[in-house]
Amino acid sequence: MNVQQHPVLIVGAGPSGMTLALQLARYNVPLRIIDKHAEPLQLSKAAAIHARTLEIFADLGVIDTFLAEGQQVDILALRTRYKDRLRLDFSRLKHTPYPFMLDLPQYRTEYILMKKLEEINIPVERGVQLVGMQQNADAVEARLRHADGREEQVSVSWLIGADGAKSTVRTLAGIDFVGEAYADDWVLCDAKISWPLPRNEMTFSGDREGIFGVFPLPGENTYRMAYTQTRDRAGRLVEPDREDAQHSLERTGIDGKVLAAEQFWTFNLAHRQVTDSRQGRIFLIGDAAHIHTPFGGQGMNLGIADAYNLGWKLAYVFHGDAHDGLLDSYQRERASVIKGVIRTTHLGVTAMLMKEGRQAAARDLLMQAVGSSYILPKFLTFSFSQLAHHYRHSPIVKGHALRLQAGDRAPDQRFFDGITQSYQHLFELIKGTQHTLLLFIGEKQNQRAALLQLLTESARRYPGILDIRVIGTSYQRPDWLPEDVQYWSDRGRDLSLYHQFGITTAYLVRPDKYLGFIQPNPGWSELDHYLQQILTGSTR
Ligand SMILES: Cc1cc2nc3c(=O)[nH]c(=O)nc-3n(C[C@H](O)[C@H](O)[C@H](O)COP(=O)(O)OP(=O)(O)OC[C@H]3O[C@@H](n4cnc5c(N)ncnc54)[C@H](O)[C@@H]3O)c2cc1C
Repeated sequence: MNVQQHPVLIVGAGPSGMTLALQLARYNVPLRIIDKHAEPLQLSKAAAIHARTLEIFADLGVIDTFLAEGQQVDILALRTRYKDRLRLDFSRLKHTPYPFMLDLPQYRTEYILMKKLEEINIPVERGVQLVGMQQNADAVEARLRHADGREEQVSVSWLIGADGAKSTVRTLAGIDFVGEAYADDWVLCDAKISWPLPRNEMTFSGDREGIFGVFPLPGENTYRMAYTQTRDRAGRLVEPDREDAQHSLERTGIDGKVLAAEQFWTFNLAHRQVTDSRQGRIFLIGDAAHIHTPFGGQGMNLGIADAYNLGWKLAYVFHGDAHDGLLDSYQRERASVIKGVIRTTHLGVTAMLMKEGRQAAARDLLMQAVGSSYILPKFLTFSFSQLAHHYRHSPIVKGHALRLQAGDRAPDQRFFDGITQSYQHLFELIKGTQHTLLLFIGEKQNQRAALLQLLTESARRYPGILDIRVIGTSYQRPDWLPEDVQYWSDRGRDLSLYHQFGITTAYLVRPDKYLGFIQPNPGWSELDHYLQQILTGSTR
């Protein structure tokens, strides 16, 4: 057996594990990422990539490949008993560069992430399985089994279980996975279908026999079918084939024809969440930490967001820029988001599975009422896109201004910058791996000395951790700004979500693009106090 020292071992090269690897690599954290399968699997599980995930992919530098390859989908149509009841229009999403869903088979998502990792010399080690694990105060000792049967002992500072719903890491750590299984079995198949609905629309239909989902994928006539497995008159499950798929497709009430369907995959569903996603030096992300129904296509997106939340924190602790306590916020922030998703997806599937009777009639009326409301469909799309997920109750966020609260995802807005004479996205100002201090300076400038102190001390005390951007409405760069501070001019007052115009407001955007700290009339001591608290866990 070999004994090696690596700071991070990621177990599992699915979307969650590879996202974390990419994020840690941006901070130069040495890592290994292993997967028990010798080759990537060609399973097409997740189809829908949501707006928030696309924002993360943009930050990771892979967005162009996704946009070039994926199928843009604007509408999620929920149908019951052969009628449209509720249409959610993602093109109405605001404050994101990606107001849509992007459909792509999961194996292509994994391929793109894997290629990006290879590009930066972090190959996934395939055919390597975690089979044992023990931790002490200083390290996790992991036992890995290679495809040829050879065993290797490694000692790492942190071990990440990104090893899916049947997580070995979770089992070895003895962490409970609480929830329950659903009675229905499901079928999944990528098929060629003659389908009359527009290609920018995915449908989810419920009827007397169960649910049938049709999701457009890239390629002519190519769709994902996901449906509750048919039972025969005796209640036995029917082995899926093309004929069964055609019969099941008729559940939608839409005149479609299955042209070709080869590989069917059947699976059970459950909703479960871990009691702890951190145990000392061990973390769980993605399906290893939570599973639920595919309603709304949330699972893979959630796992990617877990990785994006944990990545910067782990990197800061590795480099000694933050105290270990920062890592506790991963569990605190993600657990409530996940709980909400499990609740919504459970409700969604339960409602869609109401087959007949008064309950089903009431559901149909309710869906129609929601559909005709102005605000509720917007709320639902905001929620499904995962743009609504927030950490407002996190112990490491503080403050509010206008309608933004610390713990919210930083929303994007477009503005015309009078300095470069070009349209800019706020996201351009905050991209990268550091914290960004956005300082929106008020029009009546009567606290110049305090702002100067804030700017100079921030740059001096937090180099490499904090980037500073100043935004004002004056077309001229204020002459009192230190030379090395960048200035943008929003004369059109487009950045209305952030700018109070009358008074100066500071927003500290975290590396995962959530608002960590907000303060109107900001001062250096408050910002310093906040950063000390989250980074060192102290208030020295
Ligand atoms: C039918 C279906 C449809 C879905 N549709 C959607 C959708 O539209 N949108 C969406 O967001 N989500 C969807 N999901 C959920 C999505 O597929 C999962 O949430 C996603 O795969 C989770 O990614 P992960 O990286 O956490 O885990 P996984 O993708 O399960 O990856 C885990 C990896 O760990 C490896 N591994 C396991 N054990 C070990 C070990 N001991 N040692 C080394 N490696 C190990 C495995 O080989 C695997 O590669 C769907 C799921 C299903 C089942």
